[in-house]
Amino acid sequence: SEPSVSLSLSHEFADALPALAVRWPADAAPDPRLLVLNESLADELGLDVAFLRSELGVQTLVGVAVPPGATPVAQAYSGHQFGGFSPRLGDGRALLLGELRAPDGSLRDLHLKGSGPTPFARAGDGLAAVGPMLREYVMSEAMHALEIPTTRSLAVVATGREVQRESALPGAVLARAAASHLRVGSVEFARGTGDIEVLRAVVDYAIARHHPEAADGAVPALGLFRAVVAAQADLVARWMLVGFVHGVMNTDNMTLSGETIDYGPCAFMDAYDPATVFSSIDTQGRYAYGNQPYIAEWNLARLAEAMLPLFDDELERGVELAQEALAEFRPLFGAARAAGMRRKLGLVGVGAGAAWASDAGVEALAGEFHDLLAQTRADYTSSFRALSSAARGDAAALAQAVGVSDGLDAWVERWRSFGPDAEVMDAANPIYIPRNHLVEEALAAATSGDLEPLRWLTMVLSTPFTERSGAQRYAEPATADFIAGYRTF
Ligand code: AMP
Ligand code: MG
Ligand code: MG
Repeated sequence: SEPSVSLSLSHEFADALPALAVRWPADAAPDPRLLVLNESLADELGLDVAFLRSELGVQTLVGVAVPPGATPVAQAYSGHQFGGFSPRLGDGRALLLGELRAPDGSLRDLHLKGSGPTPFARAGDGLAAVGPMLREYVMSEAMHALEIPTTRSLAVVATGREVQRESALPGAVLARAAASHLRVGSVEFARGTGDIEVLRAVVDYAIARHHPEAADGAVPALGLFRAVVAAQADLVARWMLVGFVHGVMNTDNMTLSGETIDYGPCAFMDAYDPATVFSSIDTQGRYAYGNQPYIAEWNLARLAEAMLPLFDDELERGVELAQEALAEFRPLFGAARAAGMRRKLGLVGVGAGAAWASDAGVEALAGEFHDLLAQTRADYTSSFRALSSAARGDAAALAQAVGVSDGLDAWVERWRSFGPDAEVMDAANPIYIPRNHLVEEALAAATSGDLEPLRWLTMVLSTPFTERSGAQRYAEPATADFIAGYRTF
């Protein structure tokens, strides 16, 4: 019998911020088929797995069946894209179904991507293909397993409708959950309305939802800004520590919550090189691996500009306050990265007073190791993981991962003299990341109907720090040829 449970969704965003919400229905899906369902996330959200697998559940996951009381909306936002301002972007192919209260008490957005064109679609068709939606599923769940704040993927449903790209592809809808979908671009849009009450409403909503402690300060908007600066500094440091390249850090793709969002052209760096870019449209390398902290800071400056009227009645004083708050980004980012590097190098809680006990000391030591990796374009992930064996006295895997690099032996000898803790390192240096060749292989198979490789890949990536027998190929880098030619679009 058909489960009768449904979803219970609120529409707080639509009610609180009508200027940023357009009520809109999803397109029909001729033949919806559930391709993947994230059962552990469903549990975390308090959703009934049997319901989600039912016909009504699948129709809910493509937006065709609207839960009673829900008010799906397309969200308006602006964005600085590759540096240039677009006042009107918004959800061109996505809908906020509503918010749900998870068993842990948190409020989460339930959102669909690929659900048909909205008034923000411009020239786009409003659709998404199976491959890219499964890609977001794999990448975002891998990020979550790596302990990096991110939007989550609940399900991918094939719609049975064709999507015209370079060729005709099967269409899909991704259902995702997020702390919210408020972006820097949401605030830019609110500012652009010219109505300070709209700006104030967005800021108040973001404070209540993400950073409630800011409400108690003398200038709540400034408190929000500082909290976003801190959340983004921590987030981007985490990206850097695992070699993640977001690929399209436009201000519409930067959340106020501090969750990673928009898994379009992102990829993990193979060979260590700060200039790494995977997106063929990023011809200037604006969003290269090594640029990410600077771009985050630049985006935060755009956020401050948008919020400026709320910082102080006097413009000059507002600018001063914004600059002071933005100046916190670099030290916060530096401290987060140093803390992470300390764990990656296993130098935790030992040797107080040693040269590397300070953040600067850790950064110097880590910098030398990175220089060694750069010499041979060594695989970032396996080189760091091989350090654990080296800490335990076996440097063979490290020598193999890094190759012949001048000064490696001397560096290892010095670092080992500090007494690195291999167990700490094993919990900080993943064995398994979503390697580009494996992701492509799984997506190609899934697009032609075989979901098995995707299942294996997502399973291995769900415990990235734990060695799994029979999973050696998931730990290995691609061939140099594959790496050299790889582009995400
Ligand atoms: P992104 O680069 O993915 O952050 O997307 C930028 C903007 O383009 C957003 O407003 C999206 O909603 C919109 N967009 C991307 N792809 C499509 C599409 N196929 N149809 C309509 N809008 C789209
Ligand atoms: Mg986007
Ligand atoms: Mg996108």
